[in-house]
Amino acid sequence: MPNASRIAIVGAGLGGVAAGALLQQAGFVVDIFEQAPAFARLGAGIHMGPNVLKIFRRIGIEDAVTAISSKPDFWFSRDGATGEYLSRIPLGDYALKTYGAPYLTVHRGDLHALQVEALQRGTLHFDKRLTSVEDDGSGVDLTFADGTRHRADIVVGADGINSRIRETLLGEEKPNYSGWVGHRALIDRDRLARTGFTFEPCVKWWSRDRHMMAYDTMGNGREYYYVTGVPHPAWDFDGASVPSSRDEMREAFAGYHPTVQALIEATTEVSKWPLLNRNPLPLWSRGRMVLLGDACHPMKPHMAQGAAMAIEDGAMLARCLGETGLSDFATGFRLYEANRRERASRVQAVSNANTWLRTQEDPAWVFGYDIFEAPLRGEGEAA
Ligand code: FAD
Repeated sequence: MPNASRIAIVGAGLGGVAAGALLQQAGFVVDIFEQAPAFARLGAGIHMGPNVLKIFRRIGIEDAVTAISSKPDFWFSRDGATGEYLSRIPLGDYALKTYGAPYLTVHRGDLHALQVEALQRGTLHFDKRLTSVEDDGSGVDLTFADGTRHRADIVVGADGINSRIRETLLGEEKPNYSGWVGHRALIDRDRLARTGFTFEPCVKWWSRDRHMMAYDTMGNGREYYYVTGVPHPAWDFDGASVPSSRDEMREAFAGYHPTVQALIEATTEVSKWPLLNRNPLPLWSRGRMVLLGDACHPMKPHMAQGAAMAIEDGAMLARCLGETGLSDFATGFRLYEANRRERASRVQAVSNANTWLRTQEDPAWVFGYDIFEAPLRGEGEAA
């Protein structure tokens, strides 16, 4: 392992690897440290809007991601009980023309694998769980659970909602449990076909206090996915998720439309995840350490933009450090925060409120954004 790299990124999630690829492209020497021993294709889908596809274009993986993804023509919102359409948000060709890139839904593991391939070989180090980090003013020392150490000029904390870097900067504090869980299930299309129902490529079923978002995760339509938001008094389980069941789903969605009931009956495995968040942080960086993505502004996932914000953060950080160079990283960090805080906080608020696209609204402020074209706002400059 190289021992004198300039930038160390902790966490190789969707945000960390995007930052890594773009910082490497900008000419920086970057190493990425990930606690997992390897990545598996875990059962989850993800939306990727045009705002992210423009970043993938810059990384060089837009076509590869588009090739494996579903390209829905609409985001439908429907009343959970009656099935009445509450909104029909045009995507497909409209997104391409209006926002400058496609809107995709994809398997999270497949997407992540393509992002990882875009990193320079040998720069992603698995099995490296950061245990402590120390900024001595002239550099940062990282210590990992396997006893190895690494020194870098600056450190990017892309280590998710339980970020060790956030904890170092701001102290130990558990994230807030929102009072909602998300169920996640992947279903083979053949099983769905046997139900005799039609399942739309991208649809959110809503009622007063819960919802189910369902969509394709592959361009060939082989796999369908749903993720829910359901009130749940407390999260008193160990671990990031626990198994759920068809019975629990039937109970949670009693009275929902027959299409949703058919989806539940076709479910083979379903898991349950706590939905966590944090209040906006008082700082995004200190000294030689900076945060991005869920380490910085985790949110309930209801807008399908959490990973998108992590990826946008990575792109903006690379852009700002590209402007200032590493020798003036402090200005780079301030510029980064000045150009990210307002947008990320706005998305965080809308996502937590769970109102996004429930009615016929214009999503251009999210989808039309181009992080490379947006004028750079100076430090302390108002929007
Ligand atoms: P993460 O993806 O959490 O990555 C952090 C990485 O850091 C992990 O690989 C972890 O192993 C590693 N790490 C942690 N601690 C250490 C350590 N000490 N040392 C080394 N490595 C460490 N977002 C969307 O944009 N679209 C969606 O459709 C969507 N759906 C969602 C559905 C659900 C149910 C949930 C819960 C979230 C959803 N999100 C969605 C949100 C999205 O998953 C997150 O916002 C996104 O993953 C954040 O990316 P990240 O890179 O900041 O963090």
